[in-house]
Amino acid sequence: MKSSTQVAVIGGGVVGASVLYHLTKAGWTDVVLIERKELTAGSTWHSAGGMHTLNGDPNVSKLQQYTIELYKDIEAQSGQSCSIHLPGGLMLADDRERLDWLRMAQARGRYLGMDLEIITPSEAKALFPLLEEQYFVGALFDPVEGHVDPTGVTNAYAICARQLGAEVYRHTWVSDLRQRADGTWDVVTDKGEIHAEHIVNAGGLWAREVGRMIGLELPVLGMEHMYLVTENMDEVAEHNAATGHEMPMALDFEGEIYIRQEQGGMLMGTYEQACVPWSPREAPWSFDMELLEPDLDRIAPSLEIAFKHYPAMATAGIKTIVNGPFTFAPDGNPLVGPIRGIRNCWVACAVMAGLSQGGGVGLALATWMTEGDPGMDIWAMDVARFGDWANLAYTNAKVRENYSRRFRITFPNEELPAARPLHTTPIYDRLTEHNAVWGAGFGLEHPLWFQRPGEEPVEDVTFRRSNAFPIVAEECRAVRERVGLTECSNFAKYKVTGAGSADWLQGLFTNRLPKVGRISLTAMLNPQGRIVGEFSVARAGDDEFFLFGSQAAEVYHSRWFLAHLPAGHAIRFEVLALSLVGLSVAGPHARDVLQSATAESLATADFPFMSFRHVDIGMIPAWMGRMSYTGDLGYEIWVAPEHQRALFDVLWHAGQPYGMGLFGFRALMAMRMEKMFGTWYREYRPIYTPLEAGMDRYLKLDHDFVGRAALEAEMARGPERRMVYLAVDPDPDEPADVIGDEPIWHDGEVVGWVTSGAYAHYSGVSLALGYVPAALASTGAAAAGDLEIEIIGHRRPARLLHEPVLDPSGQRMRE
Ligand SMILES: Cc1cc2nc3c(=O)[nH]c(=O)nc-3n(C[C@H](O)[C@H](O)[C@H](O)COP(=O)(O)OP(=O)(O)OC[C@H]3O[C@@H](n4cnc5c(N)ncnc54)[C@H](O)[C@@H]3O)c2cc1C
Repeated sequence: MKSSTQVAVIGGGVVGASVLYHLTKAGWTDVVLIERKELTAGSTWHSAGGMHTLNGDPNVSKLQQYTIELYKDIEAQSGQSCSIHLPGGLMLADDRERLDWLRMAQARGRYLGMDLEIITPSEAKALFPLLEEQYFVGALFDPVEGHVDPTGVTNAYAICARQLGAEVYRHTWVSDLRQRADGTWDVVTDKGEIHAEHIVNAGGLWAREVGRMIGLELPVLGMEHMYLVTENMDEVAEHNAATGHEMPMALDFEGEIYIRQEQGGMLMGTYEQACVPWSPREAPWSFDMELLEPDLDRIAPSLEIAFKHYPAMATAGIKTIVNGPFTFAPDGNPLVGPIRGIRNCWVACAVMAGLSQGGGVGLALATWMTEGDPGMDIWAMDVARFGDWANLAYTNAKVRENYSRRFRITFPNEELPAARPLHTTPIYDRLTEHNAVWGAGFGLEHPLWFQRPGEEPVEDVTFRRSNAFPIVAEECRAVRERVGLTECSNFAKYKVTGAGSADWLQGLFTNRLPKVGRISLTAMLNPQGRIVGEFSVARAGDDEFFLFGSQAAEVYHSRWFLAHLPAGHAIRFEVLALSLVGLSVAGPHARDVLQSATAESLATADFPFMSFRHVDIGMIPAWMGRMSYTGDLGYEIWVAPEHQRALFDVLWHAGQPYGMGLFGFRALMAMRMEKMFGTWYREYRPIYTPLEAGMDRYLKLDHDFVGRAALEAEMARGPERRMVYLAVDPDPDEPADVIGDEPIWHDGEVVGWVTSGAYAHYSGVSLALGYVPAALASTGAAAAGDLEIEIIGHRRPARLLHEPVLDPSGQRMRE
């Protein structure tokens, strides 16, 4: 074993091997992989090897496509067979909702370059004769699905990496990890120590335990998973002989099963409801290449449906039953990337579909390590999407929920119940009394809308308009015509203080910092000139700032800030989290309400738009900013949690003479669309540039900032695509608004995609934001209205708008 290396990858499953391969491919060849047993000895060796391109997140789908395409390359380069089978795959829908979901998946696949086809049950039967077509209403056929040999793939990666200089140490257990003062690592193994500049935790079934070696509790949990393989079946042989093809793979939503040919028989796996975690507290190091005891009773409900849907399966003899553990994060997507606040520490774990995703995970992580940026949008896999609150119990509850819903539809307006409520603010009970329908984000409950008194605070889940629709319309009207009150604690809040704060922030932000007592909006870029943040920056003193950003990105953004703090500085960067909570008042009477509760003059001359100041409201000390994401006259008021209930009572009381109404997140999203305001994660993501996103007014080239050179280069050549704002004409019979990720069509071709959408209740129009090629964003053709958005299988006309549908001059905010 070497005594030092640039990177020590811990874990020789399909993911660790892929990371190793991609590091060497990116030019880092002084790298080692350390595996406690044989390669594949975790979950990889007993995987069913299936691979799919579809994923709920289009960016993850792209990485899955990449993974599948990679296999022939590594097979050719290594000389190691990966046993690639690509018979294609069917997703079988048994009801209208699932067929709608498949139509939406097909639509999303269009701009990802996927060739997906919706077919009838009889066409599905022709491809997959084992099925009984009466149980299905349609299917999606994906020609790029299949299966590989997991051991072959892992070895192929390792061989390719070794060819480029990597070393692989098998039967070597990493027992401890110690960080030196310079950020490098001593990797302690049972065969001696190795000094590594970087470590990668690809520990798979033991990733949580490897994390614990450095005090990290990663949100990852192993789950038992079963599949069975039948004896050879005549039906399979007949199909193979008649067509010359292997049976395609099939995924059956109702049965929660996947099924594919395995040699002359069939392999069938289930995601059973009565799912069981493996080693929920601590994974034993003694676990070798072992299987768990199968439990047919647990999968009996799925088998029952399988035998009905595929009768030949009922009579086929069972050759093997495999029960093995594999790992999940709370939302089922991998955990990839650098760990906040710990230098040179990377993870690539919780990869539940290693054969579909391992290649993409390896590529993203290796690019991130070697170039400082993953080079693609991997937000859905970024380890930073979970905070420290995602502890053992949270992870256990969420992973079980996710596992048991693996083949269920999660509707765009659906809020899943497990592990809730976790974080609540002090006014949770107050808002519950007002019949709030709650949603959760980043562990925090926030009100979505307020059900009418006496009615159950529950929303119908649907792809179309729900029972919330008329009520959200009323909430919007209250804000636009009178005054509304909502909770805004679900922003991320940071405080930056100490000598040098202003210079430091200025070097990260594209916009000029505001003057003391003012707020400015800014973008934050990576060196490639892409958007890594969007903030409201409020300046309380020369070197005292509050930053407000997306709560979901709290770890993501704080990781960035901490990584960019200069050495030996006096700057204090704090994540305020729920130590600062907020309420927002908006609408034409917002000032009247607040003025009745404070002695400070709130007249525009004294407290103009984008002011920020310390104000007492009643007895409550608060920070108040004059701004509102509703686009109306509005104020955001920030207080310590112990004051939030009193603040709510004061404002609610003061609001009554003005007809104050409560409004929730749904109304806020509708109103921000009405004002053409983008949002982090949808319009603003690291795949877009600020020019593409139309953030021109945040860009001031009078100072130096990260990403400036790339921005200037882009300014010179012009952006490739542009964000567009569209008025959509929904189906009049069954109106459905845009959700996000729908394709945008022009002249019979898919030219872009939607990032978000909503019905703007007050303006009475269905709206969308999305991206199209820059040329199209300004052409007369598109302006004339021949763009279309595909909504649940129907192409609906969409008209390009060039300004917000409400108050384009922004007068309401400024009055
Ligand atoms: C029954 C079953 C069927 C499946 N079917 C599919 C499928 O059809 N398609 C699909 O894509 N996925 C499938 N999977 C999931 C797939 O197996 C996993 O996604 C994949 O194996 C994850 O790979 P990994 O490298 O992250 O983890 P692992 O395979 O668990 O590898 C981690 C490795 O790290 C090593 N290690 C851990 N800690 C240390 C340490 N301290 N020192 C040294 N070495 C260490 C372990 O020994 C292990 O070899 C299935 C899983 C199961 C259980």
